[in-house]
Amino acid sequence: MDPLIWIDEQLDRLRQQDLHRELPQPLKTVGPTYQVDGRELLNFASNDYLGLASDPRLVEAAAQSLQETGLGRGASPLICGRSTGHFELERQLAQFENTEAALLFASGFAANTGTIPALTGADDAIYSDAHNHASIVDGCRLSSAVIHIYPHNDVNSLECLLQAGQKYRRRLIVTDTLFSMDGDLAPMPQLGKLAEQYDAMLMVDEAHATGVFGEHGRGVVEHFSTEHPQLHQQVHVRVGTLSKAIGAAGGFVCGSQSLIQWLTNRARTYVFSTAQPAPTSAAASAALKIITSEPTKKRRNLLRTAAKLRKKLQAQDWNTGDSASQIIPLYIGPAQKTMQLAQQLRDRGCWVPGIRPPSVPEGKSLLRLCLSAAHDEKMLARVVEALAVIRKT
Ligand SMILES: *Cc1c(COP(=O)(O)O)cnc(C)c1O
Repeated sequence: MDPLIWIDEQLDRLRQQDLHRELPQPLKTVGPTYQVDGRELLNFASNDYLGLASDPRLVEAAAQSLQETGLGRGASPLICGRSTGHFELERQLAQFENTEAALLFASGFAANTGTIPALTGADDAIYSDAHNHASIVDGCRLSSAVIHIYPHNDVNSLECLLQAGQKYRRRLIVTDTLFSMDGDLAPMPQLGKLAEQYDAMLMVDEAHATGVFGEHGRGVVEHFSTEHPQLHQQVHVRVGTLSKAIGAAGGFVCGSQSLIQWLTNRARTYVFSTAQPAPTSAAASAALKIITSEPTKKRRNLLRTAAKLRKKLQAQDWNTGDSASQIIPLYIGPAQKTMQLAQQLRDRGCWVPGIRPPSVPEGKSLLRLCLSAAHDEKMLARVVEALAVIRKT
């Protein structure tokens, strides 16, 4: 008998439950629109929030770096993989985030799965929000610490857990700052206060917020820091990705010099993984320069446009939950219904992906609309119109 026969059985089960996923048609470039079979569709699926992924300035920076450095790095950064471009980007990231130092990982996923087990061990406890990203969940699983999952954004429950957990050697609170499925924000001021009160380490993942929130585009922590200036110090570990608003690829951690030195020694996804190609970091460097030199207006516009769009969709009676960002969920519930609506939107020229388990809990499927600064008024009007029509079906 074929020992892999179980896979076909499991795939059939997924199909029966409407949970089977197929890769979409490959896209040539990422932008607000794309072509399928000669037809133009609007893309509300990507995390390219500032429209930088196909920006000619990033392409030029990567092309020049490719000419100068080639592609492969040959080894991990600790051996010989780190290029001058990586070094430069780390300096730039630390400056951007206003921290002492930064460390570049192959991806945001690797940053989380490397950092969490480096910070916690068998005598420690982790406090993780129930809606945290899969890479945080897996980072927790890779640590031998005791894991406490607190209900989403519930600071009272978190405080009870912290109170009951004085026996642990070290404690780590970890949260997304902008939740990738719900588009809502973590209560950062309260989390900062709790971390300080209970001597816990506080780690945040700004993956969807970098480049979008905050006066300088640092993210949600900066957004709240205007009214809570102490928050900057209360956050010890900042994770971000270069693959979303920054338009390139790779992940990073920012914090104190000692933190970065420790991760350089102990984060296994850093130590045992080949450095990212230099053209990738060159593109990210170019994007950071653009983000820091084209200040707040573009970011503010994106968030303002998102707020207006949310109002229009709520007026059509869609449930957008607690979204307060460029990520707008439309909660549907059953997976099958969600996928039907996604298909209807597609037929009307809009790609708004349906999100099903295991990305969200059973019965909590949703359509997720991601806005980008690259979407113009006409495109937004088209998706509002399409949603109005399918709402009535
Ligand atoms: C996308 C995402 C990551 C992973 O980042 P990559 O660079 O794509 O690997 C990590 N955390 C959160 C919250 C994310 O949304």
